Amino acid sequence: MSNIAPLNIAIVGAGICGLGASLALARKGHKVTIFERDVPPPPGGADEAFFDWDRKGAGQFRHPHAFLGLMCNILRDNYPELLTDFEAAGARRVGFELMLPPEMAANYVPEPGDEDLWVLMCRRAVMETVLRAYTERQGNITIKSGQTVTGLIGEGTPVNVTGLQLGDEEVSFDIVVDCSGRTTKFPGWLRYRGAVIEVEDDDAEIVYFTRHYKVKPGQVEPAPGGKERGAGDLGYLKYGVFPGENGHFAIILCVPTPEVALRKAVNDPVQFDAICHAIPGTRDWVDPDLAEPTTDSFGFGDIRAVWRHYVNGEDVEGWDSRVPVATNFFAIGDAAVRTNPLYGRGCSTGMLHAHILADILEEEADPIQRALILDQRTEDQLRPIFKASLDEDRAGIKRSAALMNGEDLARPHSLKAWFAMSFGDAMAGAALSEIHVIRGFMRTFHLLEKPGDFLKDKRIRNTILRYMLRGRSRNASARIVNGPDRAGMLAVIADEGIKRAAE
Ligand SMILES: Cc1cc2nc3c(=O)[nH]c(=O)nc-3n(C[C@H](O)[C@H](O)[C@H](O)COP(=O)(O)OP(=O)(O)OC[C@H]3O[C@@H](n4cnc5c(N)ncnc54)[C@H](O)[C@@H]3O)c2cc1C
Repeated sequence: MSNIAPLNIAIVGAGICGLGASLALARKGHKVTIFERDVPPPPGGADEAFFDWDRKGAGQFRHPHAFLGLMCNILRDNYPELLTDFEAAGARRVGFELMLPPEMAANYVPEPGDEDLWVLMCRRAVMETVLRAYTERQGNITIKSGQTVTGLIGEGTPVNVTGLQLGDEEVSFDIVVDCSGRTTKFPGWLRYRGAVIEVEDDDAEIVYFTRHYKVKPGQVEPAPGGKERGAGDLGYLKYGVFPGENGHFAIILCVPTPEVALRKAVNDPVQFDAICHAIPGTRDWVDPDLAEPTTDSFGFGDIRAVWRHYVNGEDVEGWDSRVPVATNFFAIGDAAVRTNPLYGRGCSTGMLHAHILADILEEEADPIQRALILDQRTEDQLRPIFKASLDEDRAGIKRSAALMNGEDLARPHSLKAWFAMSFGDAMAGAALSEIHVIRGFMRTFHLLEKPGDFLKDKRIRNTILRYMLRGRSRNASARIVNGPDRAGMLAVIADEGIKRAAE
């Protein structure tokens, strides 16, 4: 335990990171008050929360979320009783073994570290309500719902933040933590006081559509690890099945913004299902004998990678010109760093971010140093994940533009492109049949090490090289996701349109 006195801390936002930050800070002995603009969840369980909760503050609330190893391990290691609560609510723990192809699963021998490669599968309604109920049970955390923070109190350069404004009321705090998510107003409030906040902001140029379903009584959902992939990239469209709790599941279809006809189609529930029927990886899931929809299809746009800088200047060769924008103020989660939801990383990186902050407040008392250390650790631990996500976004944009121009993506146009493709194919081939390569991939997928660090493992590198040497044609199939090509899918949509017009 540190000798730093307990602090009176305000957290703005009771989303995933606000709740995570409150747990991390309260555990260190601080007194935490969370201000949340939305009302509390309605009485009942996850279904009431999913269907009835007025949750406008988190527009992504009804979109499916996968909770990766990074986040799950933080929860398991710090709040083990929470896992019992998740299980009681029906959330499923999907471990490494369940993600293996059936023939590999049959001969699976666990290795140390495999227990960290798991996901928690449930609707976000379960994650939020269970996490929130657990938070409310902690003695030194108060959640004030239905209370919109309208400004901050602070002055000077850097802005010394001393409290929050709630309408006419001013409330003082030692520390203010912004967990108000992607639409945070804090940058504007700080700029109004003269702060300069640089922002990296890249449009991923996709829209994200979801439809929820429930398995009918007496039916069993398709087995995991089957021949067809539950998630894949057809180039012009990405899809994914998110099995949830108690028979609920969701399907997402992500479409590049320029694909106008496809975008229109996925917004229509009948066309959404027609598209799912055309993709082998989703077809069985939308079989009307197996499941019925519980919602229409609905979308989420403005998908961007955003990084807000709360420290200006740099530390180069001993010349340190870094100055924080504000003191006693910290932005955590989406309010600071946001990635494309397609990769399912936001809750994990936000939960990590929250725990980094709690450690810093325990280690360091100086307000300027606290801000600089948070900035440095955010760069060290979140930047590689942010960069990998951004690189994937940019590659996706190029790929879909090439497909729209009718280019053949399987044919490289340069030696460099050929090499990159051969390497990618070899990696995909090895990751289908070599368990140590799968483990490496999974460590990246679950954000347990920096993206691509598994390639530092000599055994994995040698295996990929061996696959490369056996020739591209033998590996190429590993990357192929079954499904119609773009023209085929546009024909599916057109046929469905004609069928409906005739009815
Ligand atoms: C479509 C979609 C799908 C996603 N899927 C995944 C996934 O599979 N896995 C994953 O890990 N991540 C996923 N994400 C990302 C994830 O949702 C976010 O990273 C995560 O919710 C960030 O948590 P947060 O607490 O920072 O913000 P949020 O969860 O957005 O919470 C912000 C909170 O602040 C409150 N608030 C805002 N302004 C104020 C104010 N002025 N006063 C008081 N309260 C305020 C809001 O009401 C809200 O409760 C997805 C995102 C989207 C958009």
